[in-house]
Amino acid sequence: MGLNLILLGPPGAGKGTQAKKLVEKYGIPQVSTGDILREAVKTGTPLGVEAKSYMNRGALVPDEVVIGIVKERLKRDDCTNGYVLDGFPRTISQADALFSYLNECGCPINSVIDIRVSKEYLVKRLSGRRVCRSCGSGYHIEFSPSKGTGRCDNCGGELFQRDDDREDVVTKRLETYEAQTSPLVDYYEKSGLLKTVNGVGDVEVIFNDICKIIDGR
Ligand code: ADP
Ligand code: ADP
Ligand code: ZN
Repeated sequence: MGLNLILLGPPGAGKGTQAKKLVEKYGIPQVSTGDILREAVKTGTPLGVEAKSYMNRGALVPDEVVIGIVKERLKRDDCTNGYVLDGFPRTISQADALFSYLNECGCPINSVIDIRVSKEYLVKRLSGRRVCRSCGSGYHIEFSPSKGTGRCDNCGGELFQRDDDREDVVTKRLETYEAQTSPLVDYYEKSGLLKTVNGVGDVEVIFNDICKIIDGR
C-alpha cells in the first residue's frame, strides 16, 4: 500500500515547506500543481499561456485543466508508492474528480492534513517568501533567510519573488481560498480523512506533528 497524502491549507500555510520534508523522509514525490503550472508558464507552453492570466490575478486555473494535469502526473512510475499532493484539490469539483479517479484504481487517500494558520500571519509569510530559481528551495526574508548574500544555500541559485506573492495579488488569493478552497475542510471532515495540525511555530515541530499523524495511521 502506498502513502497517499493531501496537504490542505491556505496560501502561505507551509504546504510546500512541509511537502519537501515529507519527500525526504518518506521517499515519495511532491505533486504541486502550482509548481507544474509555473513551469508551464516559464516554458511558454499553451497550458502556461492559459494558466498565467488566472495565476497573476489570484484566481484558480479552471478545474478541467488542473484535473487533467494531476491525472497525468499520478500515472507516472514515481507515484506507485505514494505521493504528497500540495495545492490540489482546491475546489469541491477537483476533490470529487480525484475521489472517482482514485476509486477506479483502488488506491485511496490515506490522510488529508490541514495546516492551520490564521490570516494575520499569511500576508507576511507570502510577501516575504523567496524561491530559488534553480532548485526551488523556499526561503523567507525574515523567518528563514538564506545564510549567504541572497543566494540559495543548497545550490547558490538566484532567489526571486513570485509574481503572485506581491501584496495586491496575495489579498485576492486569500479571498479565493476562502470562497473556493476552505469548503474542502468540511468535505474531508465528513469523509473521515481530515487531520489538523497547528501551522504556526517552528517548522520542525510542525513536521513532527505531521509525521505522528502519518505514522499512527
Ligand atoms: P500557494 O501554495 O502559495 O497557495 P500554489 O503554488 O499552490 O500557491 O498556486 C499558485 C497558483 O496556481 C494559484 O493561485 C492558482 O492560480 C494556481 N493553482 C495551483 N493549484 C491549483 C489548483 N489545484 N486549481 C486551480 N488553480 C491552481
Ligand atoms: P504554501 O506552499 O502553503 O504556500 P510555503 O511552504 O511556501 O507555503 O511557505 C510560505 C512562506 O512561509 C515561505 O517563505 C516559508 O519559508 C515560510 N514558512 C513556512 N513555514 C513556516 C513556519 N512554520 N513559520 C514561519 N514561516 C514559515
Ligand atoms: Zn537552489
